[in-house]
Amino acid sequence: MKKMNIAVLTSGGDAPGMNAAIRAVARTGIFYGLKIMGVKKGYEGLINGEIFEMSLSSVADIIHRGGTILQTARSKEFTTREGREKALSMMKIFGIQGLVVIGGDGSFRGARDLSGMGAHVIGIPGTIDNDIPFCDYTIGFDTAVNTVVEAIGRIRDTTSSHNRANIIEVMGRNSGDISLYAGLAGGAESIIIPEVDASVEDVCKRIMHGRNRGKLHSIIILAEGVGGAFEMAKAIEEKISVETRVTILGHVQRGGSPTAFDRILASRLGAKAVELLMEGQTSKMVGQYQNEIKDFDFDKVLASKKEFSSEIYSLARILSI
Ligand code: ADP
Repeated sequence: MKKMNIAVLTSGGDAPGMNAAIRAVARTGIFYGLKIMGVKKGYEGLINGEIFEMSLSSVADIIHRGGTILQTARSKEFTTREGREKALSMMKIFGIQGLVVIGGDGSFRGARDLSGMGAHVIGIPGTIDNDIPFCDYTIGFDTAVNTVVEAIGRIRDTTSSHNRANIIEVMGRNSGDISLYAGLAGGAESIIIPEVDASVEDVCKRIMHGRNRGKLHSIIILAEGVGGAFEMAKAIEEKISVETRVTILGHVQRGGSPTAFDRILASRLGAKAVELLMEGQTSKMVGQYQNEIKDFDFDKVLASKKEFSSEIYSLARILSI
C-alpha cells in the first residue's frame, strides 16, 4: 500500500450522501497516515487551485447533511485538453498523487480523460438518478426515492379529498428509476418512464378502473425524461372528465438529510476508493454491484447502459390494478 497525497472533489449534480462519501475518503486516508486535500467546486476548483488540506475535524458533523460541503460545479474548461492540462499542473503544484471524483457519468468521462493524461483517479457514483451501470444504487438515490414517497403520501391525502387525479413529475434525467421505485413504494396507479412506452389511453383506463371500485384518488408518476405533464393532464380531463392536477416536485428531491442506506453506501465506497488509490489503481469506479463492493474500469462503465429493472416495473403494474 502506497503512502500518497489524495484529493477529493464533488462534481456535476449534487446528491444527498456526498458528504458522507467525502468524510469517508478523508477519515480513511488520515487513518492510513495520508495527506488529504479537499477541492472546492469540482473540476473548476481543481483548475483554479481552490484546494485545502483536510483534517479529521474538516469532515466533522457532516454525515447527516445533504448537499456537499465541497460545493459542486459544471466546468466547460475542463472538457477541453487545455483545461485538463491546467488541472493536471495544479495537481502537481499541490502534490496531489491521487484524486477521488464523486459525481455522475459526466464527471466520470472527465475523470477518465484526466487519468488518460497520467493522473490517478477513482470515481464514486453520486447522483440521485441511479443511471450508472455496474452499481445497484448510486449515492443519493435512496434518499430521493424516500422524499418522493413522502410527497406521494401528502398528495394522495388531498387528491382523495377532492376525488381527483394527480400527475407527479419526478426527477431522474433520462432514467426512470426514481419514478419506478417511488411509484412502487408509494402505490401509484400509473408509472410513466422513458424506458417503457405508455399511452394516455392506458392511464385513463387505470384511473377509471380504480374509480369504478370506489377509489378516491389516482396518482400518476411521470418521469421528467418523458415530460409533458400539463399536456397529459389536459388529455385526461378531455377523455374521461376527471379533474387532474400536476405537481412538479423539482429540487426538493435533491436535498435533505441522507437515509441510513445512502450514508452506509457512501461510507463504504469512500473507504474503498482510498484503498484502490493506495494499491496504485486508476481509471476505475467503485460501486456496490450485486450487493458487493467492487471496482470497474471507467471504459467499461462508460460504454455500458444501466440495466432497466423490468421486474420492478411489471410488479408495480400488477400491484396497482
Ligand atoms: P454528472 O457528473 O452529474 O453527470 P455533468 O454531466 O454536468 O454531471 O458533468 C460534470 C462535469 O464533468 C462537467 O462540467 C465537465 O467539466 C465534466 N465532463 C462532463 N462530460 C465530459 C466529457 N465528455 N469530457 C470531459 N469532461 C466532461
